[in-house]
Amino acid sequence: MRKLASIQRIRSLAPIPGADAIEKATVLGWQLVVKRAEFQVDELCVYIEIDSLLPEREPFEFLRSRSFRIRTVKLRGQVSQGICFPLSVLPQGTTIEEGADVTALLGIVKYEPPIPLSLSGIVKGSFPCFIPKTDETRVQVLGDLLQQYAGQECYITEKLDGSSATFYLRDEAFGVCSRNLELVEDAGNGFWKMARQLDLESKLKSLGKNLALQGELTGEGIQGNKLQLKGQQWFCFGIYFIDEARYASFDEWIALTEQLALPRVPVLDSAYLLEADIDSLLEKAQRRSVLAGARAEGIVIRVKQAGEHVSFKAINNEFLLHYGE
Ligand code: AMP
Ligand code: MN
Repeated sequence: MRKLASIQRIRSLAPIPGADAIEKATVLGWQLVVKRAEFQVDELCVYIEIDSLLPEREPFEFLRSRSFRIRTVKLRGQVSQGICFPLSVLPQGTTIEEGADVTALLGIVKYEPPIPLSLSGIVKGSFPCFIPKTDETRVQVLGDLLQQYAGQECYITEKLDGSSATFYLRDEAFGVCSRNLELVEDAGNGFWKMARQLDLESKLKSLGKNLALQGELTGEGIQGNKLQLKGQQWFCFGIYFIDEARYASFDEWIALTEQLALPRVPVLDSAYLLEADIDSLLEKAQRRSVLAGARAEGIVIRVKQAGEHVSFKAINNEFLLHYGE
């Protein structure tokens, strides 16, 4: 589970050229702007990540004009992601422990872009418990994991900004799910339309295996269609073998998507040796989409070694700044 708000240490503080009232702090792998002299190096604070939605109350009132959402901003040329509060923001009596998750304690939730009406559909039930929900950890919060996998062979795909779709076959039953829910078949629903258009039920049945296809539905009417695609398109980014409770390896993913003639998210590098350096990865994420000329949302990096599912995202900071996320 991702900790949106946690107790963290100020790792370093540095001046920002031309700015007297503010300075640059490093917390986890994030950089952010803080008031000058508000914090000391090594001091514990409450760090709240971008994508957080804060409750409408003191001491968060000053964020009302920003709809209480923590976004990426640029101040005096410095990209700033997240926000730090002194520990006094916590209720009295809170146990202070580095790394402790205080998201629920502060009433913070993740900002989720609204699912467009054409995709919301009719709910059949919760997301199937036998398939993992799609999600990606941010490179800034990987910590030791990055060092641990340094030098290992990975593959990089382009991250597409749409809506997560899972299609599965289990014991002859075909199912269609949005990010968090399973949906009833309905000709007006974008996920089901795509399932039928790509003939996914027959394709999955032809394999005779319990399997889930996971991918991003993107295009017209979804998240502002930033890549200006025609109509809607779906791109597979993962396959899950339900009976074996494991994800397909890179080679299996390529082979199965070829066999079933399914579109994949663009592969940008299939033999990337992981650099354990957040800045290099963020630089790699700063790119244009290979599907269109527009800014890419970012990249997803996965370790290739069989039996491991180590996967994380690096989001394009230019994209975040441009779209106010
Ligand atoms: P976020 O959109 O920030 O919540 O990041 C995680 C989501 O990115 C996943 O749940 C997927 O729906 C989506 N996604 C888009 N492109 C990719 C990709 N190439 N690989 C993995 N996930 C992706
Ligand atoms: Mn997304």
